[in-house]
Amino acid sequence: MKRFALLGETLGHSVSPMLHKAIYRQLEIDDASYRTVELPVERLKSFFTGFRVGGFDGVNVTIPHKASVIPLLDEVDSKAKLIDAVNCVNRVGNKLTGYNTDLLGFAYSLRQNSVKTENSVFAIVGAGGSAKAVAVALAEGEAKRIFLLNRTPEHAQQLAEIIKTSNDSVEVTICEQTELADHATDIDCIVNATSVGMSPDVDESPVTESIFNSNMVAFDLIYTPLTSRFLQQAKDNGAMTINGLQMLVAQAVYSVEIWMGGNIVAHVDLNALVRDLEKSIN
Ligand code: NAP
Repeated sequence: MKRFALLGETLGHSVSPMLHKAIYRQLEIDDASYRTVELPVERLKSFFTGFRVGGFDGVNVTIPHKASVIPLLDEVDSKAKLIDAVNCVNRVGNKLTGYNTDLLGFAYSLRQNSVKTENSVFAIVGAGGSAKAVAVALAEGEAKRIFLLNRTPEHAQQLAEIIKTSNDSVEVTICEQTELADHATDIDCIVNATSVGMSPDVDESPVTESIFNSNMVAFDLIYTPLTSRFLQQAKDNGAMTINGLQMLVAQAVYSVEIWMGGNIVAHVDLNALVRDLEKSIN
């Protein structure tokens, strides 16, 4: 039996066990389990000691442990290292390697929704772990310009440096709400990578409605609710909207691909997984 887990601090709400079991069912894998493990940061080290000697075959990592696990690994994929966030760990023998499949999941969702990155202008709201994954995906995709808006300007500055390290030709502008609104007509796609608007705080949005217009795409990493206040503001102004569910599903499928090998993404019906999850979230 292969054993997998999601590691976080508070995971009562997590849909990941249901999602992973649905992936294993589609792949007709009946000897794999997936469970949640809730741990405070002080207990990470002892968990990884057990993981390394066979306690699990692979783990996903979520808030607040994505950076804290890095010193406990033997190797970290170059993109995960740049982002300073690992959300997937694979064990081969006693060796643990960290990856970031949020980046792959975000890029997958952009492709599926025909959002072109090359030469396009993006705005990222937020500068935490997921904003870094989004930013590197956009920089690798040869985005032309990225506007950054974040509550703490120093975190936006760190994110700007990460983008420049990933691709020096991307123009990066750190801005306030008013400056972002001034450039709204230049923006092809605005991404909410903050937790603002996540259930239960469903009436909140990290931006003012004046930012949206019908020529832009609005992508919210949040998937609870499926239509956040941010996406509702965008819809009300005629923008195309994408929620975070497809990204969530894709990052999970990419994790399974890392753990089990083979071209799993091509053999899984991701749309069916999204539809099933939608029913459980609504
Ligand atoms: P994180 O590392 O904790 O970063 C949170 C970001 O939100 C920071 O930029 C923070 O700003 C900002 N923020 C938090 N509260 C705020 C407030 N009240 N006002 C303004 N800004 C605020 O979290 P994360 O891992 O990046 O996750 C962010 C969101 O993405 C979460 O909702 C998470 O569920 C979602 N997510 C979705 C997927 C998916 O697959 N769909 C994957 C990963 C994450 P400061 O820098 O000022 O603290």
